[in-house]
Amino acid sequence: MPHRYKTVLLFGAPGAGKGTQGKILGKIPGFFHLACGDVFRSLDMTSELGKQFLQYSSRGELVPDELTIEMWSQNMHAQTVLSLYKPKEDLLVLDGIPRNVAQAKALEKYINVLKVIHLVCPDEDAMVHRMRRRALKENRIDDADEKVIRRRFEVYRLETQPVLDHYPKALITEVSAIGSPAAVLQHVLEVVVPVQDSHFRNPL
Ligand code: AMP
Repeated sequence: MPHRYKTVLLFGAPGAGKGTQGKILGKIPGFFHLACGDVFRSLDMTSELGKQFLQYSSRGELVPDELTIEMWSQNMHAQTVLSLYKPKEDLLVLDGIPRNVAQAKALEKYINVLKVIHLVCPDEDAMVHRMRRRALKENRIDDADEKVIRRRFEVYRLETQPVLDHYPKALITEVSAIGSPAAVLQHVLEVVVPVQDSHFRNPL
């Protein structure tokens, strides 16, 4: 399908800086970043979809797949109509979706996955430390408790590993999440810039 969106998927454990990296990438011409959680949070919470989102997210659960894919595809369509995302010029950077194999399969109709970036931190203690510091700074009570953080890692592993296994190994690049946002960005760019270069015609 030639019109599928050319896409890079961002995966990363809690605290790996996925949100930060995605946001920075989205500011660079030629990249369009979309975080599924942000789209859900921007819904009108009095609408039917908004209410459904609140119902699931407040329990820490995923929104059902069909609803998620429907919401996501409508949002993508709107972004293209508004010319905020230009599929012929921009590499799509997705984060927070797909969250399971069913979503990965449903997305195949819409996206052509050129690369999967997995932000990894071999040192879980360092990540816990980073998250607790962030929790104190940003007043995020969910991340202030170490037990809760460790549980989120477990959930992430259970949730993400099957999704990663769904994609060919050759597509997946592990990038170390250790270091400053700029240092991590440097490694992320080493992976995504060649993808952008080889799939889009860039002006001289
Ligand atoms: P996040 O900001 O990615 O942690 O997402 C916040 C909440 O939005 C999640 O707890 C889910 O309820 C919902 N959500 C975000 N992305 C998805 C997705 N791909 N599938 C289902 N629910 C999602």
